[in-house]
Amino acid sequence: MSRLDTRAKLSILADAAKYDASCASSGTSKRDSSGKKGGLGSTEGSGICHSYAPDGRCISLLKILLTNACVFDCHYCINRKSSNVQRARFTVEEVVDLTLSFYRRNYIEGLFLSSGIIRSPDYTMEQLVEVARQLREVHQFRGYIHLKTIPDADPDLVHAAGLYADRLSINVELPTVSGLSRLAPEKSAPRIEGAMRHLRGSIEDGHDARKRYKSAPKFAPAGQSTQMIVGADSANDTEIVTKASGLYGRFGLRRVYYSAFSPIPDASSVLPLQRPPLMREHRLYQSDWLMRFYGYSPQEVGAAADTSGMLRLDIDPKLAWALKHRDRFPLDVNSAPREALLRVPGLGVKAVNGILSARRWRRLRIEDVARLTVSIAKLRPFLIADGWKPNVLSDRADLEPLVAPKREQLELFAA
Ligand code: SF4
Repeated sequence: MSRLDTRAKLSILADAAKYDASCASSGTSKRDSSGKKGGLGSTEGSGICHSYAPDGRCISLLKILLTNACVFDCHYCINRKSSNVQRARFTVEEVVDLTLSFYRRNYIEGLFLSSGIIRSPDYTMEQLVEVARQLREVHQFRGYIHLKTIPDADPDLVHAAGLYADRLSINVELPTVSGLSRLAPEKSAPRIEGAMRHLRGSIEDGHDARKRYKSAPKFAPAGQSTQMIVGADSANDTEIVTKASGLYGRFGLRRVYYSAFSPIPDASSVLPLQRPPLMREHRLYQSDWLMRFYGYSPQEVGAAADTSGMLRLDIDPKLAWALKHRDRFPLDVNSAPREALLRVPGLGVKAVNGILSARRWRRLRIEDVARLTVSIAKLRPFLIADGWKPNVLSDRADLEPLVAPKREQLELFAA
């Protein structure tokens, strides 16, 4: 590895980190809950905001790799052993100094740190933990820390990481076991899932301990997340959604991130030549949202897919499901239960809550619903309200063109 100054390393290692999508933060609370003064930063404070977390807060993170050198050879990864990229490696002190100086300049509110595997999983994990330890214990850093966890590392090291980091993540990488063994032969699905299970246990123990003893140390208070690469193997959307649902259920994940495979320079010949449409990644996020906040099962999301198990790109999965289940509509906005209203295309959680609270006082007209939504045109065929009754949906062969987004809207998104 040639000698590089910190600026050159930053350029290489920030660029190398851009392929990891799992760095949005959410659900953490201010670390200094003791109320003591002193210490740097707080995840609840405001800085320069670059991304929105699911809880609505803006947060900006310094997102880097400790090193892009790696002893593994995952086909889809630009940092794999056989890749012909320039390598760089930060020392622990360099990452600590960069984080502090960026924080003090108000460029960031936290750190996302991942790494290629150097020497061994344990050695790499030790280095990641040491960065977090120095930030917390030596510099009293109270900003957000997200550490990528190496699945094969010693559980004691992973435990130490959880005592310093707000969030830990372990990448499941690919939706199927066969995809993983073909494209990442040194990784093992059972070992990855074993590490996630172990992490879940530690996170839950940490929560229980904090409920009983205020002084108990926090353990990864923002939970764990993972990332799946989409489009590098042959898994279809139904398989991906089913896998994600299983991960949420079994490991209590806060988020599954979907990262559309992007062709890398000097790519392995076993990879596809083109990235999947960005809209596919977007539809998977919408499906994920349906499962987490709208009560859809993975089977129901799968029912919205086409015969090859792929979600439609031209309409969102909620609308696709509704069009396939026309017998469930129209719903009376003045009497339908919350779970049913959440299935109406175009009605979000906030709008449904607004409907439920308004109808306690009076009967609603379609104009009242319009005030709670962005576009009433999409909703009209699915709702009955005072003074409004649509034609019976099952009789309307022309319904889809009426409610589907216009072609120009889709092109705008693609652009
Ligand atoms: S272990 Fe991580 S960094 Fe190394 S090749 Fe695989 S995906 Fe890339």
